[in-house]
Amino acid sequence: MRPDILNPLFAAVGTLDGVGPRLTKQLARLRIERVIDLVYHLPAFAITRRRVDAASEAAEGDVIAIHLTAERHEQGNGRRPSRIVCRDPAGAEVTLVYFHDRGGYALKQFPVGQSRLVSGKLDLYGDRAQIVHPDFVVPPEEADALPEREPVYPLTEGVTNKRMRTLVDAALKTVPGLTEWADPGFVERQDWHAWADTLRRVHALEDEPGERERLSYDELLANQAALLVIRQAARRRKGRSLTGDGALLTRLKENLPYRLTGAQDRSIGEILGDLGADTPMLRLLQGDVGSGKTAVALAAMLRAVEAGCQAAMLAPTEILARQHLESLREMLAGMDVRTAILTGRDKGKARDVILAELAAGHIDILVGTHAIFQDAVSYKDLGLVIVDEQHRFGVNQRMALTAKAKAPPHLLVMTATPIPRTLTLTQFGEMDESRLDQMPPGREPVETAVISMGRLDEVAAGVGRLMDQGGRAYWVCPLVSEEDMSGESAAAETRAAALARRFGKERVGLVHGQMPGPEKDAVMAKFAAGDIQLLVATTVIEVGVNVPEATLMVIEKAESFGLAQLHQLRGRVGRGGGKSSCVLLRSSELSDTARERLKLMRATNDGFEIAEKDLELRGGGELLGTRQSGQAAYKAARAEDIMKLAGVAMDDARLFLEREGGFESSPRAEAMRQLLYLFERDSAIQTLKSG
Ligand code: ADP
Ligand code: MG
Repeated sequence: MRPDILNPLFAAVGTLDGVGPRLTKQLARLRIERVIDLVYHLPAFAITRRRVDAASEAAEGDVIAIHLTAERHEQGNGRRPSRIVCRDPAGAEVTLVYFHDRGGYALKQFPVGQSRLVSGKLDLYGDRAQIVHPDFVVPPEEADALPEREPVYPLTEGVTNKRMRTLVDAALKTVPGLTEWADPGFVERQDWHAWADTLRRVHALEDEPGERERLSYDELLANQAALLVIRQAARRRKGRSLTGDGALLTRLKENLPYRLTGAQDRSIGEILGDLGADTPMLRLLQGDVGSGKTAVALAAMLRAVEAGCQAAMLAPTEILARQHLESLREMLAGMDVRTAILTGRDKGKARDVILAELAAGHIDILVGTHAIFQDAVSYKDLGLVIVDEQHRFGVNQRMALTAKAKAPPHLLVMTATPIPRTLTLTQFGEMDESRLDQMPPGREPVETAVISMGRLDEVAAGVGRLMDQGGRAYWVCPLVSEEDMSGESAAAETRAAALARRFGKERVGLVHGQMPGPEKDAVMAKFAAGDIQLLVATTVIEVGVNVPEATLMVIEKAESFGLAQLHQLRGRVGRGGGKSSCVLLRSSELSDTARERLKLMRATNDGFEIAEKDLELRGGGELLGTRQSGQAAYKAARAEDIMKLAGVAMDDARLFLEREGGFESSPRAEAMRQLLYLFERDSAIQTLKSG
């Protein structure tokens, strides 16, 4: 049970004053559902308001505070905004603009002839200065109320920054003072404040350099402690040795239309070795896009089936899960192995049937998304779990899956991007590793060009020529923002519409993350069949999608992507044996780093080299999966802090669990328990009890 003291933090946002159903919905778009989500909705940056005596002292885009006198009101209507035409102290005209000024409220607060201190972003409209929707319009005597520095929060439509601040303030009022959980000596050396104080200070922009790291550290400590607890429990509960006569594995090799590469053979050997032991496997299978991880995974799953138990394979998206199932079924053709799929989309009767068969042991291999370890899902005998693309899989998911098996299941994690040790440490603790460092024969490197967005028209013309010759291409739209998946979809829709006008509607398809599953599948299937030739997409096609006939990949605003991600995307082409190319469209203004990164993409097709370089250039952020379609892995820990602090957190967690007596007898036990609940790693505590 969650400690009572934390309950107010886990209450729904709707329990805060003034938060109704509409705001609740808007906040949900930012994944803010509970009070604690607001508490950890940290400022993205700060703006400084500059006090100026005249608009002419400021440049376009500056956030200023200025005294103005109202000269004239223009009442707006549905189409026209309301305006207040003012003079600044130097006699220049500055206009305040209000769209949808319902009830003329804006005009009433600033009557003609009066003065106000006004703050907002200065726009220049020709040579006319204007401020659209000022943040503050206050009587001169209230000037003190106007903050000089202000936190700016990630926002969503309908929620202004001012509103967000009020909400965060209300949420912060519920934050209790908690006993220190971290090693006190360490906290002191870091010069950190207590947890609750740190939160307040960070929101108020009062934090000193380095202070914010504490918020990352807390989460890392919770995470590492949870991982250690799982490992302790796994040691206590023996795993189970999976052995078999090799019949299915032999059949698989006969079935494959190719010979396994040496690297595949070696990795399968390593995995089978682990499976045969009674300590649960914890192994990472690394292999670049196209290196043939799926066949290795299937070999492992067949060993589990030979041993008489079930295997589950977790994919990050629904599209991928379906593709996996399809390739598995192809490889299993004619064999008596029963496969099924379970995703969030499967509902009602169909889902019930799958659940019943799974529980009865009529399904040998289950492929799916996170749905495969929801509460209602129970396995007859789960022996092996395979996770494709590790970064979307956290401690809690692992706990949930472990809970479904009689003995702790063997775990194989597959990834196309080399992951530095820090990252595997934070996600799994210590792991073994197999590498597919050899590509199947016949894959051609993809030729890559970096081209300015200004030449978009030429690029589109090139796409047109390819299509006229019967070819197929992908067109990936830019990332819009971390928070706003809907914005991303909108950008893709706009681009798809433009390309459809150019090439004809029947030749262009669109997939994005916000489309209903069946619709996505239908479009993908049409593209795979060649019924459409150009597929406009967001990053939903990032991993795994396999259409060998596609030979051109266009990526808009390529600099907004991580290199590993670009490499993944590029890996969608070059699969058919022929020549393929990738066009990276870049913005005209690029930072030096961005330029370097794109240059690297042009220079090499080697995923390992790219990932390592990317890590160097960006500090590992994107590998941590800070941006992802499912739930965020961390609510507070920043990538750069993880790199720096994960090792320390692991040591502290070890100190607590192995030397101080852990949750039974350490003086920190109570505080650590609260910490685990706070960061929702509390399932580890359950394990401790049941183990
Ligand atoms: P990954 O998941 O590592 O990106 P896949 O498992 O999807 O790669 O394999 C990519 C493609 O290569 C598939 O079409 C698969 O059939 C093929 N493939 C896998 N192993 C071999 C091999 N040893 N020889 C030839 N082709 C292979
Ligand atoms: Mg794959």
